[in-house]
Amino acid sequence: MTTPVRTRFAPSPTGFLHLGGARTALFSWAYARHHGGTFVLRVEDTDLERSTPEAVQAILDGMRWLQLDADEGPFYQMQRMDRYREVLAGMLAAGTAYYCYSSPEEVEAMREAARAQGLKPRYDGTWRPEPGKTLPPVPEGRKPVIRFRNPQEGETSWNDMVKGPIRFANTELDDLIIARPDGTPTYNFCVVVDDLDMNITHVIRGDDHVNNTPRQINILKALGGTVPEYGHLPMILGPDGEKLSKRHGAVSVMEYDRDGYLPEAMINYLARLGWSHGDDELFTREQFVEWFDPSHLSRSAAQWDPKKLNWVNAHYIKQTPDAELAKLVAPRIAARGGKADADNLEAVIALLKDRAETLEQLADGAMLFCGPHEPAPAELAQEHLGDDNRALLRDFAALLADTPWQREALNAQVKAFIKERGLKMPQLAIPLRVAVVGRTQTPSIDAVLELLGRDTVLGRLAQL
Ligand code: GLU
Repeated sequence: MTTPVRTRFAPSPTGFLHLGGARTALFSWAYARHHGGTFVLRVEDTDLERSTPEAVQAILDGMRWLQLDADEGPFYQMQRMDRYREVLAGMLAAGTAYYCYSSPEEVEAMREAARAQGLKPRYDGTWRPEPGKTLPPVPEGRKPVIRFRNPQEGETSWNDMVKGPIRFANTELDDLIIARPDGTPTYNFCVVVDDLDMNITHVIRGDDHVNNTPRQINILKALGGTVPEYGHLPMILGPDGEKLSKRHGAVSVMEYDRDGYLPEAMINYLARLGWSHGDDELFTREQFVEWFDPSHLSRSAAQWDPKKLNWVNAHYIKQTPDAELAKLVAPRIAARGGKADADNLEAVIALLKDRAETLEQLADGAMLFCGPHEPAPAELAQEHLGDDNRALLRDFAALLADTPWQREALNAQVKAFIKERGLKMPQLAIPLRVAVVGRTQTPSIDAVLELLGRDTVLGRLAQL
C-alpha cells in the first residue's frame, strides 16, 4: 500500500497572502486533492518581530476567498515550542546536536580565516564533539547555541519534483544553528520537526528554499524521519521580467477580490502560472485537480500577465449566472451610491456582462441604470442638444409614449423613426443618449431605453 499523500502550505505571517504564496498553496492543495490526500495549513510565526495577527488573518482570508480549504490546521509554530525543545533535548542526548560556545565574534573570525584561505566561510567545528577530541573549557557565563552535527562525508541529494536531481556536498553545509542562546529553535529546525510530526510526504514550496533543503534533509534523517519528496517552484516575474513586486500593481490576493476578480478566475489563472495541461487555458477547479501533475510544472520562472488575467476573469464573468453576478455586484453599486436593490439589476447585469473584465467594471457600467441621473456636461449638451436635435427628440418622445416598453418594440420604433426622417442611426442615437443618460456611449440604445424604464426615459426627454 502506498503512503497517503500529505502536503502542507507553511506561510510566514509577515504580510498579506501574496500571489506567489497563493500559487504555492494552490499547487500543494491540488496535489493533495488529486491523490485524495490531506492538505495541512501551518503558520510559521516564530519570527516575532515580523509576524502579526493581522497577517495571519490576511492569509486565512485569502485562502478562504480562494477556497483552498485545509484539512488540518492552522497549526501555529509558536504553540509548538515545547515540542521543539523536547526534540532538541533528544538530539543533544543522541549526539546529533551539540552546544557551541563560540561567540558571534569568534564565528566571524573563523569565517574570515576560511575566506582568507579561499574557502567557503564557515564555522570551524571548534565545539563539535569527535571521538578522542578534547573540547575547550566552557567560557564562563556564556550561553551556548545548539548546532546540528551535519554529516561531513558524502552528499545530500534529492530528485526535485520540479527541478529534477539536485545535490549538495555535505562539506558545503555548515553545522547549522538549530537553537539560539536563549533556547529558541531556529527556522530550519522548526520546519523539519513539523514536517516530520505532520507526516508530510510532499513539500511544495518556492525555490528560494532550495538551499535550506539539504540541511533540512540531514536533520530529518538524524531524527530518523522519512525524507519527503520536494518540489521547488520557480518564482513569478512581473511583465517586465523583474521579480514580481508592488511596483507591478497588486500583489496581495485580497486586492484582487477588492478589484473585482472572481476566485475561480484567480485559481484558473494561478494554475497556469508555471503549470500546463496541453493547450488548455480555461478549466474548472475540478479539472485542475484531476489533471494536476507535477511533471508538467515548469522549470523556468512564470510571468505575470495582467491582460491574460483579465481575459480569464472576463470568461468567468460570462459564465456566472446573472443572479449570482447581481449579488456580487450589488455591494459595489451601493459603494458608488447607486441603488443596489433595483428590480432590474439582473437584466442590467445580463446586458453588461459580456463586455466586463472585472466586477468593478460591471458596477461602473451598472451605475448608468442604478445611479443618480447625471445630466450631460455643458459641452456635450451644446454639441448634441441644439434646437434641431431637441425638436427631433421631442417628436421621438411623442412616438415612444405609445410604444410597448420592451427591447424589440423600441428597436422597431427607432428604426422606423430614422427611416421616416432620412437619418442615419447615430443622428438619433447620440443625441438620445446624451439627453437620457448624459453621455455619447452606452450599450445598444434599445436595451438602454428598456432598462431605464418608460417613466425615466420620458421624464428625462420631457425636460429638454
Ligand atoms: N514559511 C516559509 C515561507 O513563507 C515556507 C517554508 C516552507 O514551505 O518550507 O516562505
